[in-house]
Order: sequence, then structure tokens, then C-alpha cells
Amino acid sequence: MSKSAGKKNSSLDRVLGRLDTLDSVNLANLVQRLARERGVFEEIFNTLQEGILVVRDDGAIEYANTAAQRLIGLGGDELAGQTLWRLVPGLHTSLGAALDDESGTAAPVVAREFELTYPEPRMVRLYMVPFRAAGATPARRFAVILTDVTKDKQTTAARIEDERTSSIHLLAAGVAHELGNPLNSLTIHLQLMERKLKKLKATKDADSLAESVRVCRDEVTRLDGIITHFLEAIRPRPPDLAETDLNEVLAEVLRFQQRELADRGIAVEAEATELPRVLADRNQLKQVFFNVTKNAMEAMRPGGKLKIKSRADDDSVFLLLADSGSGIKSEDLVRLFQPYQTTKTGGHGLGLMIAQRIMRDHGGQIGLESKEGVGTIVTLQFPRKDRRVRMLGG
Ligand code: ADP
Ligand code: MG
Repeated sequence: MSKSAGKKNSSLDRVLGRLDTLDSVNLANLVQRLARERGVFEEIFNTLQEGILVVRDDGAIEYANTAAQRLIGLGGDELAGQTLWRLVPGLHTSLGAALDDESGTAAPVVAREFELTYPEPRMVRLYMVPFRAAGATPARRFAVILTDVTKDKQTTAARIEDERTSSIHLLAAGVAHELGNPLNSLTIHLQLMERKLKKLKATKDADSLAESVRVCRDEVTRLDGIITHFLEAIRPRPPDLAETDLNEVLAEVLRFQQRELADRGIAVEAEATELPRVLADRNQLKQVFFNVTKNAMEAMRPGGKLKIKSRADDDSVFLLLADSGSGIKSEDLVRLFQPYQTTKTGGHGLGLMIAQRIMRDHGGQIGLESKEGVGTIVTLQFPRKDRRVRMLGG
């Protein structure tokens, strides 16, 4: 670097070399020329996609091009007094002793990724190189290049997720399907045994045998349920949309669960509000309501209460199902929509995943809010019918 600068190969270098011989007119020309040249460089820097920072030894940011200002959400004046150490946690510590080294030789080149939370969540790759500017104070500065890698990260993550699930799905769907045949045959034979047992004389042995057969049949039914759920989960069908009254479908599901609710000693309190209709697949909707209310029941003890509220704004219709159950640990909350996440002995951990998939297919969303020991609120958000038509039409 110093070598090529010493060659004085540009005309500007030649003029600078004769500074002491210049008169005031020539000096003024020179200053103007320098300013122009600086302008050109600044323009080049501002057209770059990458963020460029010039940072002093103490971390103070001296220059930021437009891309860097956009990325860190600080423009012109706000940058004064900002340090890179504040923006990138841990960077100062990791540079450590290298920064105290006055000779400047020890400062490392840094490449790392970090997360920005402001003005929006971004993953940024940082590349930081020390450089020395002769005659300037401080002698050492850093050039920092920032690249927004949020998109790369997201698409890679999505692709991995995609590949992982699709290969597992293929395999698992095959196995689940194959299981159907032996299960059928088991059911038939168990039915035969039941019939024959009924014809036998009532003895202690016959009774206990009958009990065993009953247990087997229950278990087969359970297995069958797991497989049906599983196939449902991995072979999504597009929703068959029709104008639907959410309250009515929910009431139907609750009627179906009446018996279990009573057995468990759980009261349902539903607000009777008239709701705008939504476009939904009635059967898939039932599945969502069933999965959510079943979870609520399973989380509650006798005396528990399931409260149902609804509201609507210009864009969406919301259904809120609040239970007074066990609640969910905050560290568990993020994982629950993934398949096979269950805290129950008999659980299959597919209910919420299916509910989420169906809600997404409807252009809506499912959200969980929970406090351990207090309860859980599930929010189901549906796009309003009128809005949806506009969306599709536009
Ligand atoms: P499963 O019910 O088979 O376990 P789900 O996907 O339906 O699978 O639920 C996953 C897990 O989420 C449950 O095991 C439970 O730990 C938790 N969960 C879901 N809903 C509730 C709720 N209303 N209250 C407490 N925990 C819940
Ligand atoms: Mg469940």
C-alpha cells in the first residue's frame, strides 16, 4: 500500500508532492479537485449494496455509507457518538488486547455474523480490516463491510427443513399405510374372539380373557387413530372453502365433546357474539377446534373453565379459547407446533401442528399465549371474507 502510494503515479500525487510551491489560486483549485474526487468516491460508496463503515480505534463510527445507515437504522447526525462496540455485542471483548497494541500490528481481521434487532431483525455478516492512514490521528482505523444475509439464512433454513420433512414424510407415509393392513386383520380376529368368548360359559377365565380382548381392541382403535392423524398431518388437502359461521362449527364440536367435558368436570363459557362469516373448510375447521379444545381439556383439572371469546376488526375475525389449565413453560412454547412435541404419555404431538397447517391454508394464523399454573389462550385468526375476496381479486 505505502509502496504504490510512494510512486506518485497520478497527476494528483505529483501536485501534492509540490504543495509548498503552489500559490493561493492553485491551492484553491487543488482543494476543489480534492472535494470533487471525494464526491465521486462517496457516490460510489453509496451505490454499493454492502454497508461500509470507517471506525476508529475506540469503536467510534466516523463514516457510514447509505447502505450501512439503512442497515443499522441510524442516519447522518445520529451516527455521531455511536460505537461499533455497541452495535455488535461481544466484538470489543473478542478484539481485546489487540486493540491496546499501539503498533497496530496485532489487530486481527474479523469476519463474523451478528444479529441486528433494530430497526428490524436482520442477520448481518461483518468483515473488519484494520488499515493505517499515514499522518492521520488516530493512526489506525478499521474498514468494516456489512452484508445483509437474512434472506440467505432464511432460504437455507427453509430448504433444509423442506428436504428433511419430505424424505421423512415419504418413508413414514409408506410405513403408516402398510400398518393399516395388519391392523385391519387384528380387528377382525379380535371381533371373532369376542364372539366366541360370548358363547363360552361364564367362568373366571373366560371373563378375564374377555377383558384382555377388550383392552386389545381399545389399543388397536388408538393405533388406528394415531395413524389416521399422522396421515392427515403429512398429506395436507387444500381446503374446500365455503361461507362458514365459526360459532356454529365450534358449537358443533363442543356438543360432540359434551360427554368428555362433563366427565372431566369442565365448564364451558361461550360469549354469544354475532360474527362475520369467513371462508373455511368446515371439516378442517372442526379438526382445528377439536385439537385445541381437546388440549385445553387435557390441561385442566375438574372445576376448570374453558372461556370462548370472539372479536372482529376490518381485516380479521378472531376466536380466543382460554383455559384455566396447567399452562406451558415458556421454553416449551416455541416448539409446540413442531411434530411429535408432546408432554403427555399417550400424546402424539401432532395436534397443534395440524391446527397450524390448516389455519395457514385458510390464510389465517394460530397463536399461543400461556402462563404456567394459570392457563393458556389460543388465538385463531381468520381473514374476513370480504377482505379475502379483495385479496384474491387483486
Ligand atoms: P398432544 O396433545 O398429542 O401432546 P399437541 O400438538 O396437541 O399434541 O400439543 C402439544 C403439546 O402442547 C402438549 O403435549 C402440551 O404439552 C402442550 N399444550 C397444547 N395445548 C395446551 C394447553 N391448552 N395447555 C397446556 N399445554 C398445552
Ligand atoms: Mg393434542
